[in-house]
Amino acid sequence: MSAPEPDWPRLPKPAFGDPCNSCGLCCLSGQCPISLGAFGEQAVCPALRPDGEQMRCGLMLEPAVYLGTPAWSDGPLREAIKLMLASGVGCDAGRDFDEAASARMMRDARERVAIASLEAKLMFNLFTERREVPLG
Ligand code: SF4
Ligand code: SF4
Repeated sequence: MSAPEPDWPRLPKPAFGDPCNSCGLCCLSGQCPISLGAFGEQAVCPALRPDGEQMRCGLMLEPAVYLGTPAWSDGPLREAIKLMLASGVGCDAGRDFDEAASARMMRDARERVAIASLEAKLMFNLFTERREVPLG
């Protein structure tokens, strides 16, 4: 795994709340809680992967490679990591904090968790042929 080159980030960070362009500035500025839990304190997160002009989260792409977990668990782990990182709600890093954008991203993140929770309960009921987990 090659370490990020010193001239990162190569893409300008979007405005707070705008869609993430994977510039990587947030990860280069410091490890996220998941990275700290998985790797302990490091100079740069070992899962940060350069990809052209962008930076990717290897932990989200290939959890098994970094966590030593079985490959079959990559799908659910990936989804769990996405939820924990609130991936897809927008850029929540930088000094241009915006209260309205932050509130919107929090709402989006909560909705995603609620939907994932409902999906998990449906799957549980389906696979166990039970109807014991309330869907509400
Ligand atoms: S969240 Fe923001 S700073 Fe982090 S990679 Fe995405 S656009 Fe860049
Ligand atoms: S685990 Fe992923 S999101 Fe967290 S610091 Fe590392 S590359 Fe960034």
